[in-house]
Amino acid sequence: MQPPGADVVVVRHGEIGTKSNHVGTKMERQLRENLASMLADRGVDGEVEQRRLRLLVHTDDPEGATAAAADTFGVVSASPASRVEPTLDAIAEGLREAAREHYDGGTFAVSARRAGEESAHPFASTDIEREGGSAVWEAAEAAGIEPEVDLDDPDTEFFVDCRAEEAFLFLEKRSGPGGLPLGTQDPMIALMSGGIDSPVAAWEVMKRGVPVIPLYVALGDYGGVDNRARAVSTTETLAGYAPDRDVRLRIAPGGDAVADIADAVEVGRMLVLRRFMFMVAEAVAEARGAVGIVTGESIGQKSSQTSANLAVTSAAVDLPVHRPLVTVDKTDITHRADDIGTFHESTIPAGCDRLAPEYPETRARLADIEEREPDDLRERARAVAAAVEPVAESAAVDPEEGETA
Ligand code: ATP
Ligand code: MG
Repeated sequence: MQPPGADVVVVRHGEIGTKSNHVGTKMERQLRENLASMLADRGVDGEVEQRRLRLLVHTDDPEGATAAAADTFGVVSASPASRVEPTLDAIAEGLREAAREHYDGGTFAVSARRAGEESAHPFASTDIEREGGSAVWEAAEAAGIEPEVDLDDPDTEFFVDCRAEEAFLFLEKRSGPGGLPLGTQDPMIALMSGGIDSPVAAWEVMKRGVPVIPLYVALGDYGGVDNRARAVSTTETLAGYAPDRDVRLRIAPGGDAVADIADAVEVGRMLVLRRFMFMVAEAVAEARGAVGIVTGESIGQKSSQTSANLAVTSAAVDLPVHRPLVTVDKTDITHRADDIGTFHESTIPAGCDRLAPEYPETRARLADIEEREPDDLRERARAVAAAVEPVAESAAVDPEEGETA
């Protein structure tokens, strides 16, 4: 919802404000660049201007720019806004116009902030709220609407942000993801299975500024072609949040190694398989300068994810394994996937349970697993990592061909 004459979007960030000057300035610059590429990616014309503790997007498409900002990591909220002279009269007139267009009954409130030097304005924010409130009231009555004020939970809220040079009027604060601008941290490998969890986990670290290198370990005969297709398409959705980065899914051809593991290991097979995946991820990380591995694991979600087994799988690698969803329930993960836009694709049915033995291990001991796993596991993982290739952009997977491994 935007006031008449809206030609800017006010974009607010959060945690950057808590940083030292040096770090904060760098992060703000990154945010500005990321927002500009998000606008460009969506074909929204807009000029991003850096202001103190916020950005302004000058645009003739405030709705498009607001939507783009709301998908940009580091953005706390965005408001399509109009600008008027920072005087009580001009603000009241602006609110009157906004009320004519957007207030059609129910309760309303005017919430004002006044920033800048004490001496910049001869009035207080409460004056704006009082005068502005009367203006909305009168406009409503003139239109035959019976106005009602509710300061706590209004149906329609008119915001005024009065600065030294100008006042911004807006009707909504659309929430962004929050977090930090993408690219302000070193990269990590995101293990993508194409299921519901892994894209959400990757998104969570991206939200904290971490660029991800998405990696799918192809399971050969054990992985349905749909598995890979899901991983490709959920990764494409993630890429939409990082338009100027290479977020193509990397495919590690693990089929032969996985088949050998399945033949050689019965008890603890899933754990050995997970350890193998981590080893592949670690080798890819080494080659790409990535500093961690991200998975969608959550305590107790599967037998390989009991607290004991998470310890056994983590021990396969020196790199830290980050599990942003470790305490998140499946229903909540599902909601997040829905919000992010990866839920639908991750529910394409895929038969991936053939690998699991009938009685999976829930409390493995590291020493036992190490003894059971093939001696050359790490070597094989390195070889598989060396053969990793990015999937072609928007590669459609041919169901007839099956998964290449
Ligand atoms: P998801 O966890 O993505 O919803 P899932 O629950 O079917 O899928 P799990 O078996 O729980 O997958 O795997 C746990 C985690 O291991 C995944 O979140 C993902 O990070 C990683 N993973 C699983 N399979 C693969 C694979 N074939 N390639 C890369 N990573 C994988
Ligand atoms: Mg899972």
